Amino acid sequence: MNVPPSLERLVQELARLPGIGTKTAQRLAFSILRNESARAQNLARAIVDVKEKIRFCSRCFAYAEQELCTICQNPRRDDRVICVVEQPNDVYVIERSGVFQGRYHVLLGTISPLDGVGPEQLKIRELQSRLEEHPVDELIIATNPSIPGEATALHLSRVLDSKVARITRLARGLPVGAHLEYTDDVTLNQAFAGRQNF
Ligand code: ZN
Repeated sequence: MNVPPSLERLVQELARLPGIGTKTAQRLAFSILRNESARAQNLARAIVDVKEKIRFCSRCFAYAEQELCTICQNPRRDDRVICVVEQPNDVYVIERSGVFQGRYHVLLGTISPLDGVGPEQLKIRELQSRLEEHPVDELIIATNPSIPGEATALHLSRVLDSKVARITRLARGLPVGAHLEYTDDVTLNQAFAGRQNF
C-alpha cells in the first residue's frame, strides 16, 4: 500500500489481530486517522492499560487488576462449587450465560504431550491446595471437548478423586442449531454416549 510509513505501520499492527484481514485493518486505520485525536489517544491508552494492569488472580488465575479477581472477591458466589476451565476467557463465556454462580479455577492450558505441556505446567497443584484448604461439594470440569481437553479432564478426575465429593463433566453434544452433516466425529460420539431418555 502506497501510504505514509506511520499509517502503513498501524495497518500492519492491526492486521496482526485475530480475525482482522488487511482490508479491515486499512478501514480501521483510516477511521482512527479521521477521528479526533482524543479518541485515538483513548484507544492507545486502553491498549497499554490492559497490558500493564491485568494480571492473573492469585487464587483462581482468571484475569484480575488486584490480587484477587472480582469473582473471587464477590461474597455472594457459591463456595461449594468450583468450575475448572482452560483459559481466562472461558470464565467470561460461562459468566455471560449466567448459568453458574460458583467459583472458578483456570488451568492456563491443557495437557498436550505433543506440545510438551504436562500436568505440572498447569495450575493443578494450586487447585489441589485450594481443595485441601477449602473443601467443596462439587468440581465441574469444563475443559473443551477436544483431545487435549478430554485428556486434561481425565487426569483431573484421577488426581482429584480423593479430594472432592463429586466431580462432574459438562454435558456435551450437538450445539443448538447444528446439522448432523456438519458435526465432527468427536461431538457426534459424545452426543450418542450422553444421550438421555426422551
Ligand atoms: Zn479469582
